[in-house]
Amino acid sequence: MSKTIQVDAGGGTVEADRFDQLAELATVVGDRERLSVEAPFTGEEIGTVPAGTEADIEAAVERAEAAQEEWEARPVAERTEVLDDVHDLVLDRQDELLDVLQLEGGKARLTAFEEVADVAINARYYADRAESYLAREKRQGAMPLMTRTYEYHHPVGVVGLITPWNYPLALTVSDSLPALVAGNAVVLNPAQQTPYTALLAKQLLEEAGLPEDLFQVVTGSGSDLGDPLIDRVDFIGFTGSTSTGRIVAERAGSNLIKCSMELGGKNPIIVLDDADVDKAVEGVVRGCFTNAGQLCISGERLYVQSGVYDEFVEKFAEATENLTLGVDYDYSADVGSLVSEEQLEKVTEHVEGAKARGATVLAGGEARPDVGPYFYEPTVLADVDEEMAVGCDETFGPVVSVYQFDDIDVAVREANNSEYGLNASIWTADSELAHEIAPQIECGTVNINEGYAAAYGSVDAPMGGMKDSGIGRRHGKEGILKYTESQTVAEQRFGSMGKPPGVPASIYTRMMTGSLRLLKRLSKFP
Ligand code: NAP
Repeated sequence: MSKTIQVDAGGGTVEADRFDQLAELATVVGDRERLSVEAPFTGEEIGTVPAGTEADIEAAVERAEAAQEEWEARPVAERTEVLDDVHDLVLDRQDELLDVLQLEGGKARLTAFEEVADVAINARYYADRAESYLAREKRQGAMPLMTRTYEYHHPVGVVGLITPWNYPLALTVSDSLPALVAGNAVVLNPAQQTPYTALLAKQLLEEAGLPEDLFQVVTGSGSDLGDPLIDRVDFIGFTGSTSTGRIVAERAGSNLIKCSMELGGKNPIIVLDDADVDKAVEGVVRGCFTNAGQLCISGERLYVQSGVYDEFVEKFAEATENLTLGVDYDYSADVGSLVSEEQLEKVTEHVEGAKARGATVLAGGEARPDVGPYFYEPTVLADVDEEMAVGCDETFGPVVSVYQFDDIDVAVREANNSEYGLNASIWTADSELAHEIAPQIECGTVNINEGYAAAYGSVDAPMGGMKDSGIGRRHGKEGILKYTESQTVAEQRFGSMGKPPGVPASIYTRMMTGSLRLLKRLSKFP
């Protein structure tokens, strides 16, 4: 049984038995060991969820397959109605969502709200666009006029999702919505730290009209459930670290199923001499410390041009020091907790390792057990080099290293000097220059005069990683069509694709050669 946890939040409370109810929504076909879920703000147990097994994955996929057949048969317009309702429901029910997000994720409430907004934006986008993206498309036929060719987009079937704890609503629901509206079922294994958000999401999706069984949540360890899930589904969408992503992608490869990998980053930010310093300070602080830096697209390497270096760094360090830490279920704190002891250890190791090797702490630099067991101060370091873990490995915490540069080419080279390629940010008053620099940066998204939200929030445009930051994209057309199989249907209306009877091959090939040359002169592929 859960301990009694009551949280005052925006006038609402989450009762302990609510967590027991949510745990009941996990797919499980027998008595299972229980996994404890902790509130990072206090280290207390919130409740327990079943430690799912291979048999539970098997059952979840079977139920999902059965539900998917009926769902796929429904017109797309009917499926989009569910997304319309999801949009309204997450906004109406945000108090409870925010409470649960804060409780099991330890995040500041404003960061939790970003997740709610992200789901609403994606729900509206795919509700509006799914029909056109999924519609049969006319393609150019093999022989103009004689061949009529269409492309169809069929759902793959059952989509498996494995998701991390840092954005447990956005990365589960926003990535599920395009899969669902494309006619698929989803079987989700959420991170162990944050199963309740996923279970609450299941409830809300069903309240919005999603058929029962179409969205299954199997709680439990990803390292136990990952392989059976990947072995049973038709597509695997993974969000998490690059090291786990390699394991998942390898398994997907041997099963010959499609996959998308949304992985880690060591994201560069470039501030040029002509940037509006105050605006840049505000945006870079947000771009580095949102969700206590536990955001795949947050900045961890900050390159500042010499002319503005002193002024920018002084103001940036001061603004960082001024951020408030807190455990309140309201909007009073800027920054919340790290999610776990493991995260705290990693952040501490990175900062202490850098200090020991000569890095200078310009702001923060210490754990804050006085606020909560896993809190760590937003931290700015200088004199960091590549020998230090913090200089090259993803910290995934509230730590950014500042570097000075003179020449923009050097800044671009340094920005690209990473195995990762997820997100970048450029600050300058010269829009033309920014647009010249942006395509030279090897990252899937580049923000100009914003840290991450401009690109991430542009849900009509693809978002994902280059290099070791991933495979595939979420958002936009790619974000839905990846969950489909393309099928080409071509009708030969008249004429023949083969050699006409009685015409010798030597003459036929000469005629074809002439036709091909003529076609090149007369028409282009549109
Ligand atoms: P992680 O350790 O890779 O875990 C991610 C998920 O994978 C969890 O659900 C985990 O389950 C599961 N998992 C662990 N081992 C597995 C295995 N062998 N097979 C299948 N699944 C397995 O990553 P994390 O520490 O939770 O998340 C932080 C990382 O995610 C960072 O690198 C961050 O940059 C990245 N991230 C990327 C994006 C993006 O969009 N590019 C977004 C958010 C986060 P358990 O919880 O049971 O361990």
